[in-house]
Amino acid sequence: MALIRIMDKKNNNMRNLKDLEIWFITGSQHLYGPEILKTVEENALTIANSLSNDENIPLKILFKPIVKTTEEIFNLMLDANYSTQCVGIITWMHTFSPAKMWINGLKILHKPLCHLHTQFNRDIPWGTIDMDFMNLNQSAHGDREFGFILTRMGIKRKIITGHWRDSSVVLQINHWIRAALAWHDWQGAKFVRFGDNMRQVAVTEGDKVEAQIKFGFQVNTHGVGDLVTEIEKVKNAEIDDLCEVYGKEYYLNTSLLKEGIHHKSLREAAKIELGLNNFLAKENYKGFTTTFEDLHGLTQLPGIAVQRLMQKGFGFGAEGDWKTAALLRAMKTMSFGLAGGNSFMEDYTYHFEPNNELVLGAHMLEICPSIAIKKPSCEIHPLGIGGKADPVRLVFNVQGGKALNASLIDLGHRFRLLVNEVKAVEPKFNLPKLPVARVLWKPLPDMKNAITAWLLAGGAHHTVYSQSVTSEILFDFAEIAGIELVLINDETKNMTHFNNELRQNEVSRK
Ligand code: MN
Repeated sequence: MALIRIMDKKNNNMRNLKDLEIWFITGSQHLYGPEILKTVEENALTIANSLSNDENIPLKILFKPIVKTTEEIFNLMLDANYSTQCVGIITWMHTFSPAKMWINGLKILHKPLCHLHTQFNRDIPWGTIDMDFMNLNQSAHGDREFGFILTRMGIKRKIITGHWRDSSVVLQINHWIRAALAWHDWQGAKFVRFGDNMRQVAVTEGDKVEAQIKFGFQVNTHGVGDLVTEIEKVKNAEIDDLCEVYGKEYYLNTSLLKEGIHHKSLREAAKIELGLNNFLAKENYKGFTTTFEDLHGLTQLPGIAVQRLMQKGFGFGAEGDWKTAALLRAMKTMSFGLAGGNSFMEDYTYHFEPNNELVLGAHMLEICPSIAIKKPSCEIHPLGIGGKADPVRLVFNVQGGKALNASLIDLGHRFRLLVNEVKAVEPKFNLPKLPVARVLWKPLPDMKNAITAWLLAGGAHHTVYSQSVTSEILFDFAEIAGIELVLINDETKNMTHFNNELRQNEVSRK
């Protein structure tokens, strides 16, 4: 649970994590008699506490009394559904627990489910093993009975196999909890779009009603005038303070300093940030979108404001892209306490040099400083489009290393989460004339296959770029959400197979 403290400090937009918990539920039956059941309970408690105290487990693991009847299981599932603190449940069958007892409870379960297929003892005690031991330690077949009923009922779950002290098992639990946490955060979440979509763009559109049914968050639209009203309420003293923060946290261009010719623009940017922050806080929005085609009453397109709000933990999508805004929020939630950041991203331009192919990712302004390699510089430049005053923005490079891009698209009859693992590369050149934050990466397995696959799968130009979220976390998340995840990584080298995978997914639709 050590991670939570870091999380709270890092991000003031995400609170109450300390109140959240994962329930540890152990199945058994009365057949074995009270003595064995007492041992089952003690062992289960030991595992739950061990996981809960493990510094690699990000939430409290709450032990629940073992369940032995249809009624106990049903009532516990009811409680799990009802509890606002319960993020998900971990189940384990220490002994055999006839699965017909589980049907009624599983039918009503609405929380993410992780099936931990473990065993209390790691090793078989070769010298002492007898039938008492065999009757107590039955997860090898008890969990098969449980797995059968889940498959028979079509229930999505995470399966983790291995001894509970094994670090790879703990890591898998960690990943699943992160996915469940992001799911929990989405339920009842609200995202706001200021203005509509960028005109005629297809991929940023989508079925908001279906998204709410499927994902649990709602997307509302406000006229940008509502935001302007909030911005107008910002007091001068607050702007003074925020400009001081800018001065401390970034290298300010000379023209933005107090005596500089663009200081007024910096103040305007600070005012937009404060107003935007107040608007989101007041309405309890977890993310937002803007569009440069609808800025009535705003003096400049929000640049630094969006960048800093992303860093606080808000989701964001440009040009009305609410799906990416929601995904960014989810991925920020998943990566709580982890090193590395998450940002809204756009595949911008290519470097096709043979054997050194690269993608340059950036946006007009809005890249999150959580991925900055060092202290960003705060600059002002003309935008070229949108017809507004020059916007203030943070400019920085991004470090090399493992990362990924994720894109959530609406195929009309279902959603698809597309992931491409990439290797970021630190820029060798300064790019002195490029006035935006930028990232360079090599898509895996290579430029040709990765991008061909991305286009085949219908991936968007907008993505969430992550240094901290792994494909496994996203896979767990997609399973909880009940959508497909298509992964492009170093194994995606055969486009025929990849194309067939997409075709098969088309048929399965589950
Ligand atoms: Mn864009």
